[in-house]
Amino acid sequence: MTNRTPITVAYGDGIGPEIMSAALFILREAGALLDIETIQIGEKLYRAGSSSGIDSGAWESLRRTRVLFKGPITTPQGGGYKSINVTLRKALGLYANVRPCVSYFPFVATKHPLVDLVIVRENEEDLYAGIEHRQTQEVYQTLKLVSRPGSERVIRYAFEYARLNGRSKVTCFTKDNIMKLTDGLFHQTFDEIATEYPEIESEHLIIDIGMARVADSPEFYDVIVTPNLYGDIMSDVAAQIAGSVGLAGSANVGEGAAMFEAIHGSAPDIAGKGIANPSGLLLAGIMMLNHIGQHDVAERVHNAWLRTLEDGIHTGDIYKVGTSQVRASSMDFAHAVIERLGQAPARLHPVAYGRTENPAHIALKERPPAKKALVGVDVFIDWDEAGRDPTVLGELLRTCGGDGLDLIMITNRGQKVWPEGQPETFCTDHWRCRFQRTDGGAVPHAALVALLGRIADAGLDFIKTEGLYTFNGQPGFSLGQGQ
Ligand code: NAD
Repeated sequence: MTNRTPITVAYGDGIGPEIMSAALFILREAGALLDIETIQIGEKLYRAGSSSGIDSGAWESLRRTRVLFKGPITTPQGGGYKSINVTLRKALGLYANVRPCVSYFPFVATKHPLVDLVIVRENEEDLYAGIEHRQTQEVYQTLKLVSRPGSERVIRYAFEYARLNGRSKVTCFTKDNIMKLTDGLFHQTFDEIATEYPEIESEHLIIDIGMARVADSPEFYDVIVTPNLYGDIMSDVAAQIAGSVGLAGSANVGEGAAMFEAIHGSAPDIAGKGIANPSGLLLAGIMMLNHIGQHDVAERVHNAWLRTLEDGIHTGDIYKVGTSQVRASSMDFAHAVIERLGQAPARLHPVAYGRTENPAHIALKERPPAKKALVGVDVFIDWDEAGRDPTVLGELLRTCGGDGLDLIMITNRGQKVWPEGQPETFCTDHWRCRFQRTDGGAVPHAALVALLGRIADAGLDFIKTEGLYTFNGQPGFSLGQGQ
């Protein structure tokens, strides 16, 4: 018992229990030394009234084992429920989501026979911070948060991963031509860290053309690092064009914990039929074995699995007349893998683990804090009067200025509409009104509070404010479109 590694297992919802049983069966038969604690998370708990889908017993187990092997979870549609996946990633600080996408041509049909890439997706920030508000009758918002340590940690992880696994290129994708501050930070951090890895080629592409190129020529990519949302979408695209989303596993790694899961969901359309492909979860299990140092078992299972694919034993999702020999159920497939333990693939590349490791601790660079100064405020206003004529709102707000703070601009959905807006611009009921000191000097917080008081006295509904700061004299805010 002493050399067994304690892990927490959640079978999950939908096809989860079927594929988890198949995957664990294979791992056990291959000699994995696991001491399993099983927890219940997901649909059952949601239905019993838990909005998080996870209870205190599960957290205790996770704190003990620090390793979770997880089946897919169904997130109920509609308000009130939080995604367990997002909660687990954030609560356990799992900052990097590592998603290898590989094609297994000619045994699994694909238009892209040479895919062998790894997506390292930032896993805690970006639009997945889950901070959303309805602010007016017409406008809703999500906050996109990007931090320097969050970006640095995942980018360093990607370079370390490339170095440890003998990969030669890291590509970063962002949309920093539009989101100059948030995605700009990610890109700038990437460029900075790339210089510390001169032996690894680095490149940056804008996500739209980047996604198109990955879909068209995935064989040109090696390690990819990208913010959360782009990485989520890109990894499904990459896995699907490599063969099937059912064939990709993923690791969510943090400093003190890790979670391993398939990239696909709970597939309610085929749940209970025993036909789901356990491969994605099994590959996640192999990543877990490497994480806990059981490289020999990981290698045995992976090579037997490759051999099974080669022998044409395929679940329905990848079954193809002419290539496949047997249409296997989930459990038939598991038995076929077990029969091949100790064998290597004949034509696909066999894997060799032991030298391949996950980066451990990622140290962040110390940075001196920048000098921060408050120079103004954006006041967001819900206003639906006077036919939404920006000049009327402008006149009303101009009289609210004071203490050196002057109204310098109003935008609607980011487009400047005052002063000198274009009459063609469509306006909603949501206005961003920028007050700034015209001499560029600092503003005391009391001036902001007094300004809000005058805006309220003018009968205007301010729905939020954003302070305008400079950092070492550089503006920490973007200009309005057309400003
Ligand atoms: P899905 O990935 O569950 O299914 C998409 C399609 O792929 C379906 O046709 C399904 O039958 C097929 N498929 C998926 N996995 C398969 C497998 N192993 N073998 C064979 N076919 C497979 O995506 P969805 O339908 O959009 O989502 C269903 C539920 O899963 C939703 O509640 C969603 O929130 C949840 N989800 C969970 C996770 C997770 O737990 N990490 C990830 C994605 C989606």
